[in-house]
Amino acid sequence: MRVTEHLDRATGPLISFEIIPPKRGGNVQTLMSLIDGLVVHRPPFIDITSHAAEIVYQETPQGTEPRIVRKRPGTLGVCALLQNKYNVDAVPHVLCNGFTREETEDFLIELRYLGIDNVLAIRGDDHGYQKPLSHGRSANTYAVDLVRQVQQMNRGEYLQMTADADPTNFCVGVAGYPEKHFESPNLERDVQRTKEKVDAGADYIVTQMFFDNERYFEYVQACRDAGIEVPIIPGLKILTTRAHLTRIPKHFYCEIPNELSGEIEGAKKEHVPDVGVAWAIKQTTDLLERGVPSVHFYVMASAVAVTKVIQGLKL
Ligand code: FAD
Repeated sequence: MRVTEHLDRATGPLISFEIIPPKRGGNVQTLMSLIDGLVVHRPPFIDITSHAAEIVYQETPQGTEPRIVRKRPGTLGVCALLQNKYNVDAVPHVLCNGFTREETEDFLIELRYLGIDNVLAIRGDDHGYQKPLSHGRSANTYAVDLVRQVQQMNRGEYLQMTADADPTNFCVGVAGYPEKHFESPNLERDVQRTKEKVDAGADYIVTQMFFDNERYFEYVQACRDAGIEVPIIPGLKILTTRAHLTRIPKHFYCEIPNELSGEIEGAKKEHVPDVGVAWAIKQTTDLLERGVPSVHFYVMASAVAVTKVIQGLKL
């Protein structure tokens, strides 16, 4: 079922999750234990991140040599598991960076065969590797280009036109940034760029993580003022280590409120996850009480903290 149908039919708050495929050569049993721990909460859908190839440098007897490695393949396989073993709607992330449009079309065809109705169209992190394009191949630059490609397939327009090509019917999500995307000159410009994604056919927005709900509500207002009418699902992350205080602002460009950072700095190491869980319960309760119908947790690799949060919500 499409994410927007889940939202339309919901009779109570929806809690969805985002997980990450194992590292190359990693164990699928570990991933399945994680999914086992999440599906008990009856999520309407689970997102699976996607990871492009990147350049890594290796010491060799001849000196340092660059190698192109895709560290986390497996998005498609995890989607197949979720959709057909666990009967939970899978939302694969589909990237611009690292993939040609031709590869993206093939990926979308595979998803359709697996009965997957949703994709999150994302530009992708820049890891310094641009796939060379040859033999007439092309690439999407921004997420808006990817949204257009998916919508073309939804109209039955494939890259190589085939007679009687079946239209797909993907529900398309895109990313939004309550504290603006780091490359954007200001929030207003970023919201305009997000509006372009919606005008191109995005059905809903999932936000980057934030730790101060006012940032989310101000962002939603800015989007509504700009004419964005689609659902805006808040994305939340539960802090569980002291290292998160530096890593999260560095990688995700979002602020951690002074109150939360102070509580984490003051807590004994073993109590840091309790502080993060308590903050997430407070944040989620406030969002739901203020009428937000759906919350999305960046779970990544462990269900422990999010399970405590959901138990604490007493839904
Ligand atoms: P875009 O919407 O393309 O925007 C990127 C930047 O370009 C913005 O600053 C925007 O304002 C600007 N821009 C947009 N259009 C134009 C234009 N036409 N001309 C000039 N500037 C323009 N990364 C991964 O690698 N894998 C994942 O699975 C993944 N999942 C994510 C899920 C969510 C919910 C979020 C919020 C992020 C995720 N990311 C993921 C990170 C994401 O790839 C980065 O944040 C990336 O830098 C931007 O992606 P985007 O889709 O928002 O890009």
